[in-house]
This record gives sequence, C-alpha cells and structure tokens, in this order.
Amino acid sequence: MNLKLESKAIQTAAGKLTFRTQAFIDGRYVDAACGKTYVSVNPATGKPLARIAACEAADVNAAVKAARRSFDQGVWAKRSPAERKHVLLRFAERIEQNLGELALLDCLDAGKPITDCMTMDLPDSVHCFRWHAEAIDKEYEKVSPTGPSNVALIVREPLGVIGAILPWNFPIQMAAWKLGPILATGNSVVVKPARQTSLSALRLAELAAEAGIPEGVLNVVPGNGAVIGAALCKHPDVDAVAFTGLTEVGRQLLQYSAESNLKRIVLELGGKNPQVVLEDAGDLDYIARQALGCVFWNMGENCSSGSRLIVHRKLKTKLLARMIEFSKEWIVGSPLDPATKIGPMIEESHMRKVLDYIESGKSEGADLVLGGHRTLLKTGGYFVEATIFDRVKPAMKIAREEIFGPVLSVFTFDTDEEAVALANDTPYGLTASLYSENVSRAHRVARAIRAGTVSVNCFSEGDATTPFGGYKQSGFFGRDKSIFAHYQYTELKTIWIQLA
Ligand code: NAD
Repeated sequence: MNLKLESKAIQTAAGKLTFRTQAFIDGRYVDAACGKTYVSVNPATGKPLARIAACEAADVNAAVKAARRSFDQGVWAKRSPAERKHVLLRFAERIEQNLGELALLDCLDAGKPITDCMTMDLPDSVHCFRWHAEAIDKEYEKVSPTGPSNVALIVREPLGVIGAILPWNFPIQMAAWKLGPILATGNSVVVKPARQTSLSALRLAELAAEAGIPEGVLNVVPGNGAVIGAALCKHPDVDAVAFTGLTEVGRQLLQYSAESNLKRIVLELGGKNPQVVLEDAGDLDYIARQALGCVFWNMGENCSSGSRLIVHRKLKTKLLARMIEFSKEWIVGSPLDPATKIGPMIEESHMRKVLDYIESGKSEGADLVLGGHRTLLKTGGYFVEATIFDRVKPAMKIAREEIFGPVLSVFTFDTDEEAVALANDTPYGLTASLYSENVSRAHRVARAIRAGTVSVNCFSEGDATTPFGGYKQSGFFGRDKSIFAHYQYTELKTIWIQLA
C-alpha cells in the first residue's frame, strides 16, 4: 500500500485495513489449537481493535516442530549464502512495498505516531533486513595459524531453532532487529510478539513467505507471554531465545534455560538512561530539542529514553526554560494525525503505572515543572502529558526505576566526576547522551559512563552498523544490530585436518 503522510489519506486507509489474526505455523495461518482468542485494544480510543489467536503450549510445540524440521532438512540453513541474501533482499522489498499498511498496523496497535512509523520504524526495518542480507556473503571465516602438517578451519554454523520474544514498544522494528541476523545466519525461528502488538509480526510472516522464505523457517505465535513465552523458553528443542523486554522477565528466562536444556539466552532489557550536559556544552537551543527528543520520543516508552537529565548547575535554569518552551512542539494527540508527536500509553494499566510514578515524584518532594496529568480523556485513550520534574534526588523512586512514559527527572552537578557518578548511579547501563564542546573531555566522560551506547552532542542509538545493547542489568550475552548480532546466533566450530 502506498500511503501519503496526510490526515485524510491516513484516515481512509486506516478504515479499510484488514488484519491477519491467526498464528502463522509451517507456512500457513491457523487458529490456536484450543480455539481461543483474545481482544487487542486500540490504546488511542480504548476500543477493541482485533481478535487474535490466543496460542498456548500446543501451538508453540507445533511451531518448534516445523522450525526444527525445516532446519534439519536444510531448506534455509544449507542454501548458499548468496541465495539467502537474495531472498532476504526480496523480503525487505516486500516490506517496503507494504510500508503504509505495516506503519498503520503499528500505529493502531501500539498507539505510535504515524509520522514516526512511516519515517523511522518502517524505513529502519527495511534497511535492517537489507543490511543483514548484504552481510551474508561478505563475511569470511578463518583459517588458524597452525604448523605445516595441519589445516584448521574456524567456521560459524547456525544454532538451529531460535525463539524471538518481542516487546510492544517498537513492534516491527524489534522484529527486524531480531529476524535480520537470525535469518541471515541460517536459523529457523519462532517469533512471539507482545500480546498487545501482534498485528505487524503476523503480516510480516506472509510477506516473508511471498519473498521465498521456506515453510517452517519463520513462524509467529501470538498470545500471553507467561504462557507461550515460557513454553518457548522451556522447550527442549529450542537452541536459543532472543528476548527484548523487562529486566525481571529476562531474569526469569535465565531460570527457564537453566531448568531445561541450557539454551542460549540473549537479553535486551530496560534502561534508566542519563543525558549529561557538561559545563562547556554548546548551543542550548539545540541541546534542549535533542534532550526533549531523547526523553519523549515514542512517548518515553523507549528503552533508550533519556529519563535523567544531569546538567551542570550553571546551565540548568537556562536549559530547563528552553526545554519547557520547546515542549509545546511535543503535541499530544491521535497517533493517526501526522502532527502528533506523543500518542497514548500502550494500555490502561501502563498509563496508571506512569501516573503512579508521577504521584510518587510529587509526594517525595520533586518539583513538577511541566505536565503531570492524564489528558484527552474524551478520546477514551490512555494519554499522559509530557512531564518534567526538577530537583530530583537520586534516592527517589522516579530517579531509580524505569517509568517507560514521558517523564523526565532533572539533577544538577558541579564537577565532571559528580556527573559521571550520577550517570552511573543505576543498575541499568543501556544508553547515555553527553554534551560538551571539548572532544577530549567528552571522550573521557564517554569512556567513564557504563553504558552500551554513548552518543556525544546528539541523541542517537547509532545505525545498522553499530551494536546496540546494555551493560549491567540492561542486557545479557549479546547485541542487536551490526555484524556482532550474527555471532550470537551461530556456534563456533573448529575443523582440524591432519595433512598427509
Ligand atoms: P515484557 O517483558 O513485559 O514483555 C516482553 C515480551 O516478553 C512480550 O512478548 C511478553 O509477552 C513476553 N513475556 C512476558 N512474560 C514472559 C515470561 N514469563 N516468559 C517469557 N516471555 C514473557 O516487556 P514489554 O513491557 O513488552 O517491553 C518493555 C521493556 O522492554 C522495557 O523494560 C524496555 O526498556 C525494554 N526494551 C528494551 C530494548 C533494548 O533493546 N534493550 C528495546 C525495547 C524495549
């Protein structure tokens, strides 16, 4: 579907959308074996959106069986790298041809602003598949430096059957970040999208089949995480699980692995990310806009949301005034409106959790300087205003816990050492941003911050070429994106040859 980024065209297209709501197992859409369904809700209206197959352990078993058969038969794993590349490139093309439809699915299902879906999530996902496809036949393996009587090859082989458990905040993009490297390296996969946002992953499966991904290689089972996510993680025939979600759930997955077959677990988890503005930071108008984007983009429902602004005491008043002024640009509204920058929270219970955090900020004595309320009640949606707290103390709940909403806490410091200590004062370590005019100083501080990605003089998660993942309790074992993501889905094998 070709879709113009203008209100009328978007409303019309949204009204005509149809949904894939069954599980996709072994190359075809099927109901859950138990026949049950669940209702997914449009968070911008509070109204039902679609009725989706509520898969259970039996469906996971069927999907894993199909994936295992396809892997053992080598219909994907043993195709030549160049052939796999061509199929994945076709897959990327099919996504691009259906960009408008997929963008609308994520917009309606997750409440994500349509402009973000069409200009960021979808183009990034297409590029992600292309990047991993192109990498397939560009990477060489190794020959070790043995003596003259031997040749030793060090090769990477696909792991087998991988479970990919996805979060709801970037539905299609997180699917792409997982599927790109998993499929590029020749594995078969069972995807478990988040219960709230299964629609784009279910449609993606059909596009993959059209592109030539063989039956059984890519399966999608929607449903409740505690039921099917757990079944996937405990399954004895699954070789690895790639998970993005909450740190507490990640912890649980490691237990499932320990109790079952010691499957590899790759965890991309939460964050409580600092934005550090050093004394010599440059243009404060620019920094104010970057800082607002860093915390409020995707409603703050973003693992790399910079929810702690750590600013030099001398700059705080001026920077905060600029941010409050520019916050008017962060329009809260219907995700279908191209002007909207903040859509609803994903669901009512999550909105309540975010509002509870705001109440705790007030009751613990932080200064509420912007927002702080539910808004647009008449829509029936779960909207929360962009919110800023000043004079936050490191021990406060809003300073320590991942809120996953549009809420910023502001802290001040006097020396770079204090800034680094504040930045690192968290169990998380996913991303950080840092502002300074002095490259040596910025480099010194960037090295001292314990986070997987530190962006200097901007808010950025890098691009397809850079690994993304966390230090400390923000991650475990691997990285999304870049060639490093390929390694976690492969085994290393040595072939030692005795020469005659
Ligand atoms: P979540 O942990 O509630 O759910 C993630 C997925 O796990 C869902 O598919 C869910 O159904 C499933 N799940 C839930 N319980 C399970 C269980 N017991 N066993 C197996 N699977 C289970 O997380 P969420 O609320 O969807 O996502 C928000 C979290 O994800 C935040 O903490 C955010 O920071 C994190 N996140 C991290 C990254 C990253 O790259 N590090 C990216 C996006 C989101």
